[in-house]
Amino acid sequence: MIRRLLARLIPGRPARAPRIYPPGEHAVRREQIPRGARMVTEKLQEAGYKAFVVGGAVRDLLLGLVPKDFDIATDATPEQVKPLFRRAYIIGRRFRLVHVHVGGEVLEVSTFRAAQKNDDATDEHGRLLSDNVYGTQTEDAARRDFTINALYFDPATEEIWDYVGGVTDCRARRLKLIGPPTTRYREDPVRMLRAVRLAAKASLTIDPKTAAPIPKLANLMHNVPPARLFDEMQKLLLSGRATEALQGLRTHGLSGGLLPLLDVVLEQPGGTRFIEVALAGTDARVREGKPVSPAFLFATLLWHEVVQQWHAATARGERPIPALHQAMEQVLAVQAQRISVPRRFEASIKEIWAMQPRFEQRAGVRPYRLLEHERFRAAYDFLLLRAACGEAPDDLANWWTRFQDASPLEREAMLRPSEAPRKRRSRGRGRKQRDAALADPAGDASGSER
Ligand code: ATP
Ligand code: MG
Repeated sequence: MIRRLLARLIPGRPARAPRIYPPGEHAVRREQIPRGARMVTEKLQEAGYKAFVVGGAVRDLLLGLVPKDFDIATDATPEQVKPLFRRAYIIGRRFRLVHVHVGGEVLEVSTFRAAQKNDDATDEHGRLLSDNVYGTQTEDAARRDFTINALYFDPATEEIWDYVGGVTDCRARRLKLIGPPTTRYREDPVRMLRAVRLAAKASLTIDPKTAAPIPKLANLMHNVPPARLFDEMQKLLLSGRATEALQGLRTHGLSGGLLPLLDVVLEQPGGTRFIEVALAGTDARVREGKPVSPAFLFATLLWHEVVQQWHAATARGERPIPALHQAMEQVLAVQAQRISVPRRFEASIKEIWAMQPRFEQRAGVRPYRLLEHERFRAAYDFLLLRAACGEAPDDLANWWTRFQDASPLEREAMLRPSEAPRKRRSRGRGRKQRDAALADPAGDASGSER
């Protein structure tokens, strides 16, 4: 009774009773839910529990997008869920949920939970350190981030249960936080990043009250574990709307805290174009359902800063290859302070960068060796990107395009004459020329090969 009264009095807090939209009032149909997810909700309901498809999937279906995954929410505890299915596994230590395997699908079933309210649960900035308390469905809706992410679809009745006005916001294509924005961002600063990502992904307008505190609170991002930031950032970059999303990060003052070097890159001549071309290419691939490597993306985002530092070092007289490696290390070290790029990706990023000068070498056995390199494909794509931006000669990119598909005889005919005799004639000059070409990824020096 008191809670109901409070819910009415405190604006932004959800009312206790949901608004239930019958199938006639919305367009989401049970056929849009994969069989596995429907089977799981059915079984849970047969066992007497509540079960809904929840979150991103309902949002995407209402917005006319294709959902990535179909999460399920229930009032059954993990221990009650598990025995209902043949292949179900309880996972997670702090917050336990159940993975149900159906055919090739894995469905995530989570128990309704409430946000923890006591002081121990937050750090000194207000960040929630745990949210592992089971709760009612109302509480489960309230602890979610945005109104459009707190909708529950029951495949059996085709009803949508809405505690927070999410259906109206979907229709208005409006992204609105549940509850007071400043508190919600303090609880979890990643929500700022999610706001920008979801707005870009689904072409939504961020509600002014939801958008307003972001620039002021952007520095809370420093407080988020870098591994978590990597996960969200990866989602952002692979959303198929990375161009818009990165623009959004800049508009809302978030980019500096996430990709400390991005703003630097975007101010360099050619830097903006490089990233725009890279992201446009990535977005197109994602939308066509083709695979994209996060390593490749991070390599493109940071490349111009590497080039800048590399140039500076060679201008000081350092040898090109060691200078390149040093620049790579420095750039990755600065980046790692914010977003921790997993080691395996870091290794690939370095390989993509380090292979760029090797494309210049088109004599002898070197092109064959490069072709066999595990990371050749990504490095070659990177070369194409540099060529598309006028940073590498088109001729060089075309040569590699042809070389890959050529017959052994054709390949041999394509090889450039070995540099060895020239080197013997004038060793000093030959090395200097080669060094100049290597140190100039913008392609001026290698233009002589055109
Ligand atoms: P996507 O389709 O890109 O995966 P999503 O909204 O489904 O977007 P998930 O990370 O899969 O994103 O999260 C699933 C659901 O969990 C969200 O829809 C939301 O209800 C809830 N959620 C996720 N992150 C948060 C958060 N930081 N704070 C509160 N709720 C969250
Ligand atoms: Mg999701």
